[in-house]
Amino acid sequence: MDNFMVSVIIPAYNEGENIDMIHDALEKEFKALSCDFEAIFVDDGSRDDTLARIRTLAEHAPEVKYISFSRNFGKEPALIAGLQHAFGETVIIMDADLQHPPSLIPQLLDGYFEGYQQVVARRTREGESKSRSFLSSSYYKMVNKLAQVDLADGEGDFRLLGRQAIDAILAMSEGNRFSKGLFSWIGFEKKVIHYENVKREKGDSHWSMKQLLEYGIEGILSFNQRPLRMVFYAGFLIMGLSLIYISLMFIMILFRGVAVPGYFTTISSVLILGGVQLISLGVIGEYVGRIYMETKRRPHYLVKESNTERKSYEKME
Ligand code: UDP
Ligand code: MG
Repeated sequence: MDNFMVSVIIPAYNEGENIDMIHDALEKEFKALSCDFEAIFVDDGSRDDTLARIRTLAEHAPEVKYISFSRNFGKEPALIAGLQHAFGETVIIMDADLQHPPSLIPQLLDGYFEGYQQVVARRTREGESKSRSFLSSSYYKMVNKLAQVDLADGEGDFRLLGRQAIDAILAMSEGNRFSKGLFSWIGFEKKVIHYENVKREKGDSHWSMKQLLEYGIEGILSFNQRPLRMVFYAGFLIMGLSLIYISLMFIMILFRGVAVPGYFTTISSVLILGGVQLISLGVIGEYVGRIYMETKRRPHYLVKESNTERKSYEKME
């Protein structure tokens, strides 16, 4: 494979113990393939020795590039930074914690040479806590009902992208990013390969339940206006039911007079309507908040230190 280069993007947040391991694994894989690669580590404002370890590694490994953020910006900005700095014909995105087995790289590349712009490694949910896998799979069922993009359970960020797909992703300038949705939105031929779930090598998962919930809401809201529409329908439904109820009561009163003071019905309708209104306001507020964030057009990330040039200057800021 002459003159063919693969950029591997590795977002790393407090992954000090994993840096050398993932680099060794990559080196081994690419040597076997006799294929050039660059490893782009994106240090997402880690508080441990991640940056120091990457720096040391970069001193004697010319294929190691790094970008270090001024603070923790999150995995999504880390991915963009990686994509913007990637020089390869194709990019492979993988986690630093070795949960994305580097041994799949040959299969990913095979997919690329078969002509696919996206090759996705899809994982089974074995070894994951029951509650989390239940939550995830119900979440995907819900999102696919609600949103206008197709997300598949177990398809994460571990994937290969060809140049066309990379440029498509970079051309999307939104600040609130939900990569899973973006990957699906851009289209292109996609191939899926499967692998067994792997437990984290060192350190802990950085996702708390609260972050997962927020990520989930992001996924639903960032891709469609359907929740707004549902609120609208709900309002209609409730108004219709109330009208029927009021006319029935009116007729009853005409014929029988006022029977019991309507304490129960008053309170229950006030409560129900109050609830519906609060939910609707919440949904609208979420969208308004997103509009507000987007209008600021802040950069996705700030670089503190780096040993590589940015390749693309697409309208990202
Ligand atoms: N990560 C990151 N910034 C963050 C959180 C995570 O760059 O704020 C990186 C992390 O270092 C890892 C990848 O994203 O390489 C996936 O994170 P993690 O293993 O915590 O997620 P999980 O595998 O549990 O979904
Ligand atoms: Mg992980």
